[in-house]
Amino acid sequence: MRYFTFLFFFFLSFTTVAQEYVVGLDYFLPEDVTYNTNIPTPKSIIGHEVGEWHVTHDKLVQYMYALAEASDRITIESRGTTFEGRPLLLLTITAPKNLANLENIRKEHVALTEGAQTATTNMPVVVYQGFSIHGNEPSGANAGLVAAYYLAAAQGPKIDELLNNTVILFDPSFNPDGLQRFAYWANINKSENINPDPNDREFDEIWPGGRTNHYWFDMNRDWLPVQLPESRARIETFHNWYPNILTDHHEMGTNASFFFQPGIPSRTHPLTPKKNQELTGDIAKFHAKALDKIGSFYYTEESFDDFYYGKGSTFPDINGAIGILFEQASSRGHAQESENGILTFPFTIRNQFTAALSTLEAAVSMRTTLLDYQKEFFKNATSEGNAGGAIVFGDEKDASKVYHLAEILKRHKIKFNAVKEDFESNGKTYKKGSSYIIPKNQKQHRLINAMFEKRTSFQDSLFYDISAWSFPLAFNVDYEEGTFSNKTGEEVTNLQMSTPPVPQNSQYAYLMEWHDYYAPKALNMLLKKGLRAKVGMTPFELNGKQYDYGTILIPVQNQSLTAAEVAEIVKEVVSESHVTITGVATGLTKGIDLGSNQFRALEQPKVAMLVGEGVTPYDAGEIWHLFDQRYDMLLTKLDTRNFSRTDLSRYTDIILPNNYALDKNDAEKLKDWVKDGGTLIGYKNTGNWFDSNKLLEMKFKTRKDTATNISFEQRGDYRGAQVIGGAIFETKLDRSHPIAFGYKNETLPVFRNSTYFLETEKDSYNNPIQYTENPLLAGYISKPNLEELANTSAFKVGGIGRGNVIYFTDNHNFRAFWYGTNKLLMNAIFFGDEM
Ligand SMILES: [Zn+2]
Repeated sequence: MRYFTFLFFFFLSFTTVAQEYVVGLDYFLPEDVTYNTNIPTPKSIIGHEVGEWHVTHDKLVQYMYALAEASDRITIESRGTTFEGRPLLLLTITAPKNLANLENIRKEHVALTEGAQTATTNMPVVVYQGFSIHGNEPSGANAGLVAAYYLAAAQGPKIDELLNNTVILFDPSFNPDGLQRFAYWANINKSENINPDPNDREFDEIWPGGRTNHYWFDMNRDWLPVQLPESRARIETFHNWYPNILTDHHEMGTNASFFFQPGIPSRTHPLTPKKNQELTGDIAKFHAKALDKIGSFYYTEESFDDFYYGKGSTFPDINGAIGILFEQASSRGHAQESENGILTFPFTIRNQFTAALSTLEAAVSMRTTLLDYQKEFFKNATSEGNAGGAIVFGDEKDASKVYHLAEILKRHKIKFNAVKEDFESNGKTYKKGSSYIIPKNQKQHRLINAMFEKRTSFQDSLFYDISAWSFPLAFNVDYEEGTFSNKTGEEVTNLQMSTPPVPQNSQYAYLMEWHDYYAPKALNMLLKKGLRAKVGMTPFELNGKQYDYGTILIPVQNQSLTAAEVAEIVKEVVSESHVTITGVATGLTKGIDLGSNQFRALEQPKVAMLVGEGVTPYDAGEIWHLFDQRYDMLLTKLDTRNFSRTDLSRYTDIILPNNYALDKNDAEKLKDWVKDGGTLIGYKNTGNWFDSNKLLEMKFKTRKDTATNISFEQRGDYRGAQVIGGAIFETKLDRSHPIAFGYKNETLPVFRNSTYFLETEKDSYNNPIQYTENPLLAGYISKPNLEELANTSAFKVGGIGRGNVIYFTDNHNFRAFWYGTNKLLMNAIFFGDEM
């Protein structure tokens, strides 16, 4: 007996330790509610309690389908897939009678944004709830399990009132690939005896972490540019419904509490109506009350902001809705010590669930106010737009880039028209097929302003994210505002990429100008097929056509293929890349003839990039995405762990994104490789390392400030104001330098979020990309920084042995929407040997 007693107690105490942080479903749910037993609980489908393990995306999907199957309040759909093939789910949750009439409800709701004067008295409010856009901020998506269960299973007058009056667009995971990556990490490192020691590996994910999507993008910056598949699904749902509230559930540092908006009032974008922030404040009262009830601490207004419209909680604010950001202190793993005691994963989930519910309570209580606000927002936007005017944008040399900008407009349901006929204005040519006109008298008038404006004065000098994103600058298109009424053609309803003419067969040569966005893709295809190609170092004229710097020449003679085979390949390349290639029958031109040694032979690049611990994942991921998704070019990712023992001789080009990873031995290794003919390309911080290791000697200006009349309390803001969070500046190009091939204008807008002020070289021809005298185009920069930046260089190249080292002060591949500067990297790759 004694023996058994001992065993019994031993077992009990063991279980207690192991299960210390595991709670039942009732821990999360409100009291005094009964639940429909025909609705499966999360545990009955996923095999564990909510918060016991980190839910993997596949299990989340499994549960959401099971709920939709069992509940007459839910329909489910997959709106596409992530890069890794995971479904982008959307649950529509409302009363069964609303579900039966959903399309009518949707149409009536959208009509409110289009001037319908319908009374809102009996209309449901629409709430879009989304979770864990940062995959390693998991309490949101895990709370989604509880929230979806509650909405499907709760019974009684309260839930009936909620569902009768609300259509909930429920997005259980904004970032499936990131959530899966993070759940794997947290679960594989979980001990049976949960260990809250913050030093444990469980709390320290390996590079690149689960925050981002497959190509390491922060997807909570892509709501406006809409370049990623996950965002495309979301934005389509958004414009299909125009929700009244959109919520975005995040996590922050472990020692914090819980944050809900409003954020810092002075950092609200001026295009957002005042009333938006008032309503945000009214909604906040519901969160406060609900969190008070469960004893949870929180704060508002002290951090985060509503400035950049590319964030999930700010995008709704320029679309007639209220966006709400939630930030929960993160346990990262299953439980972690914090300044507020042990922070358990279930506790974080409960706060998120509570806020999800208080959002719905606010929506029901403020229903007609929110609907009327939305109606008024679009009424005012439309009447502002009735003042008239239009924007024309285009690029006579690059229809592809223009197409991609137009594609963003389409995704945001912005109407635009074709250009009736080619015309010139202010020295720029707007051609039919590569230019469009956006009339301002439309419902999305305010969104158009938010995308096209160039703002340079601000109420505050601190920004949570970038301070400028002007799309015509990011795309480097020609554009201007005006009326253009006699130039405006038909509305574009079926946007298509331009189809260049099929090239005529030639026995002599083919020519391809370098301006089109996809010219590098075309050149890479040609080289990959084993064709010889050359680049023209100066402009020329042939058959009455002007060919600019960087024109690609494909000779027909002395290829390993016949003239007919070459012709076939050229046709295939044109049809896949949408770039114009012209067959010519003579080598005699005005300017350099085709046999001139001003045409330089090109080789197929074999490119590698440094990734891994010590490399900024965003900067590296943008380059990977550019090669893989845009140009179909192979890029080998060399991990920093193995760099010292990797044979580099098989690569022609190596890219070092912003990094802190390499040491002196790595520098010697790279120097030898460059001497043998390699092209080494570095960005941002890599410049200091180039300089100190004598790979490329450079001088950076260092500014020394002393704070005068700045108090201790003001010191944070003082320092913050010296940060360039992300603004747009003008550079002057030397178009004859190979780094600038393919650019038709003398100036180029560039993005900058760093303070690397590179001094120019004495010889002017060594400064092909230089900041202008007064470079600020859009965004915030402090006055002293602006003075420092003026006239500095943005680029440097130097030779070692047979190779070159190339340096860019700025990231030209920012967030996949800086189409205008992507070509700089391609020029370094393809023409690096000629610099
Ligand atoms: Zn986040």
